[in-house]
Amino acid sequence: VLSAARSFDYFYFVQQWPGSMCDTKRGCCYPTTGKPEGTFTIHGLWPNFNDGSYPSSCDKNNLYNASKIKDLLPEMQKTWPTLACPRGDGHKFWAHEWDKHGTCSESILDQHSYFQAALKFQKKANLLSILSDAGIAPDGAFYSTKSIIDAFSNALGVLPSVECNWDESRNPQLYQVYLCVDKHAQDFIDCPFYPKRKCAPEIEFPAF
Ligand code: 5GP
Ligand code: 5GP
Ligand code: 5GP
Repeated sequence: VLSAARSFDYFYFVQQWPGSMCDTKRGCCYPTTGKPEGTFTIHGLWPNFNDGSYPSSCDKNNLYNASKIKDLLPEMQKTWPTLACPRGDGHKFWAHEWDKHGTCSESILDQHSYFQAALKFQKKANLLSILSDAGIAPDGAFYSTKSIIDAFSNALGVLPSVECNWDESRNPQLYQVYLCVDKHAQDFIDCPFYPKRKCAPEIEFPAF
């Protein structure tokens, strides 16, 4: 080949709080497999460049193939459920994540390794227990954003980035947590670039 695509530099590993997707004006739909457990669930593992930009949809010849990840599906249904409407069994969400993001890291992770890596990081960063150990619970109360970020960084040794959205009454709330992972998907790292997603100083942690 004359030129290779520019390789990415690191991943964002993004988890979502289902309560904050569901209590919005847009709402959510529980998957066909049932209401998810009340834990942070996986949104995706996204290759990124150091300058904050990112590649997407890198290989239309290597699209999502569920038969390659059969052994992972039971765990994916639990920890990577889709909450989008209309309700689905997850394959549409996983296909979107692989086709848009996963194909951009295929030189390092094949489909099975890609999904397996995300499951590994979800276990490694048990966000709900980290918060609960810090006295922060999904009880609909407001907590300082700093106390949430401090709890994560003390427990994990790296600084996360948190993203907020708004509930139906326009209260800002904890929606997604971004952690950075090295390009070989071995471990969390400090982020080369922090996504500019600011939360208010005090945010709600709604129930689910
Ligand atoms: P949404 O909030 O729509 O789920 O997320 C925004 C979309 O942009 C997502 O589809 C996500 O894939 C993508 N996205 C947003 N920011 C970043 C980023 O910094 N890196 C990567 N790789 N994807 C991003
Ligand atoms: P992204 O490009 O952010 O990785 O993916 C966002 C896309 O995934 C959107 O098209 C969104 O509709 C879909 N999606 C399906 N299920 C979920 C879910 O549970 N949470 C989020 N945030 N997006 C979902
Ligand atoms: P997209 O345009 O990619 O479908 O999604 C736009 C934004 O809304 C993303 O942040 C996505 O994750 C989120 N989203 C997608 N579907 C739903 C849904 O059914 N309910 C809610 N509350 N958010 C959704």
